[in-house]
Amino acid sequence: MPPVYRFAPSPNGYLHLGHALSALLNADMARAAGGRLLLRIEDIDASRCRPEFETAIYEDLTWLGLTWEQPVRRQSEHFDLYRDALGRLDAMGLIYPSFESRAEIAALVAAREAQAPWPRDPDGAPLYPGDAKTLLPAERARRVASGAPYAMRLDMAAAMTRAGALTWLETGAGPRGETGTFIADPAAWGDVILSRKDAPGSYHLAVTLDDAAQGVTDVVRGSDLFHATSVHRLLQCLLGLPAPRYHHHRLILGADGRKLGKSTQATALRERRAAGATPSDIRKAVGLD
Ligand code: GLU
Repeated sequence: MPPVYRFAPSPNGYLHLGHALSALLNADMARAAGGRLLLRIEDIDASRCRPEFETAIYEDLTWLGLTWEQPVRRQSEHFDLYRDALGRLDAMGLIYPSFESRAEIAALVAAREAQAPWPRDPDGAPLYPGDAKTLLPAERARRVASGAPYAMRLDMAAAMTRAGALTWLETGAGPRGETGTFIADPAAWGDVILSRKDAPGSYHLAVTLDDAAQGVTDVVRGSDLFHATSVHRLLQCLLGLPAPRYHHHRLILGADGRKLGKSTQATALRERRAAGATPSDIRKAVGLD
């Protein structure tokens, strides 16, 4: 069976040089391995995704010279898959509803932080303090029945007990440039959100389920998602899904030394194209020759 690669952008902005590196690496690696290349549109966040950004993704990737299999998978068309997985995790007793607003969570964290330092996840956000986990079943049911919006969170401690130790094979580079087998550390993320108030899935849940549904064997993506792999491995184990190989690549940094954001217009592929750049200029600009 040929290996399966995928490029999975979110249509919440125009593609920039960082996306170009990811897309071109996926295409190069798929070609070198005699593999297939898939494109997936990660559009669960309806409030930020726009059809014109999706159209621009197809245009920019075609201009870069990429070809991919049809049909393109769009996450917004697979909410049933995410709901079904949440149902299975719920039946295992591994998820719980969390009703707080962002401001309420910030206040809960601040109260803890007044006592002692409070842990941050690998992206620097404070861990959810777990208050909703202690709600009595009757109170939970009452709030759900009242129509209060809620997110579903993974009970990380229970999930890890069920899954046991997990590893993944990294063919790219870890935080210190190393390759090989990594030990997953999902606890670093705390009780992560698996479905949001406004969408029946979160990035972690959808990406894991979609990679399995599409038979992806090799996940090639930016090193900003290196630590997220720990959560993905945990979900794969809980849901009985195969583990792909992972290849996290260097990030393209902006002039300020930070990871490129969607709003960094100077690095948007369409701006470069309008300014006369060719696809081979883009390959050079991202360090591929
Ligand atoms: N959709 C994610 C992004 O735009 C990438 C997800 C992944 O490659 O796992 O950053």
